[in-house]
Amino acid sequence: MEGRGGIHFVYLFVLAYTILALVWWGVLLFNQSEQITRFEVQNLVLRTDSIAHPIEFHQELQRIEATEERRSVMFFGEGLIFLAIILLGGFFVYRSIWKQMRLSQQQQNFMMAVTHELKSPIAAAKLNLETLRKHRLDEEKRLKLLDNTIRETNRLDQLCNNILLASQMEGQRYQLFREDIDFSSLLETGIREMQSRITTHTIQAHILPDVWVNGDKFMLQILLSNLVENAVKYAPKHTVINVSLAECNGSTLKLKVTDEGPGIPADERERIFLKFYRIGNENTRKAKGSGLGLFLSRKIVQQHGGTIVVKDNVPAGASFEITWPVYSIQSV
Ligand code: ADP
Repeated sequence: MEGRGGIHFVYLFVLAYTILALVWWGVLLFNQSEQITRFEVQNLVLRTDSIAHPIEFHQELQRIEATEERRSVMFFGEGLIFLAIILLGGFFVYRSIWKQMRLSQQQQNFMMAVTHELKSPIAAAKLNLETLRKHRLDEEKRLKLLDNTIRETNRLDQLCNNILLASQMEGQRYQLFREDIDFSSLLETGIREMQSRITTHTIQAHILPDVWVNGDKFMLQILLSNLVENAVKYAPKHTVINVSLAECNGSTLKLKVTDEGPGIPADERERIFLKFYRIGNENTRKAKGSGLGLFLSRKIVQQHGGTIVVKDNVPAGASFEITWPVYSIQSV
């Protein structure tokens, strides 16, 4: 933060100095112009007898005054253009510095969060496996430890997928593998699989059957898992997560993932889809994460020709709504 203050100060100092220098040069030019006019008038008085030739004298005087006026207009106009260019340049430079600083802050947060996210499932899985090797446990405890290890490796898998996909999408290197998919089955299977390992929340599914879409199976699985895992992460334990797929107005397909958590404040609803963006601050945040889940989710939805928005769930919570125009649906 101190570094930022220093950069702001230097930037504002340079900008203010440039503008003041411009104003100063303007004042000098106007003074010079006045001096030139004064010398020309003196010269005129010496050269021309104003009583013997009053008309020539006045014509010449008018010419001198008109030239000074033209000079003033030119100085003023060019000064204004320079000022506009400096301000415009200053604005763009400031905007890019600010963006760069925000990105680097978010990357720093991301590194802190990811280090924790990578280390904690590895540590948990290692501990579980060591316990299994050292002790002779009864069947129930053994299964519990194995389930826990699978859960942790799934978390790790999801994080690695998100990091890899985000970097591939950034470089436009990910090519969608499109095929006709039974979207209803994909959702049903995904939800069943998640419910089997998530014991803290109940996932309710209302899926319109036999909806086929042309899309990338792997990506759509990641989309579902990111939204449901977020609901699990941010909504209190023993609440319900709802996943529904329905056709609206006979023309659009809508996938909704709603939870009973804290919801998303109105002024954060655009920003949460930015890369590395996480609400709040890394020190006060309880749930760990990378800030990549929703960034990827929106990319995936866009690549499939849809839009994603977040709304309030009634009476409480967040509702992520994805809408696809009907032309991409092949309902059978
Ligand atoms: P991560 O969860 O790894 O931080 P995401 O990109 O998935 O990153 O989410 C960005 C931010 O949006 C989160 O940090 C969180 O603050 C907020 N968020 C996402 N989903 C929910 C949700 N279901 N309820 C409340 N807040 C959420």
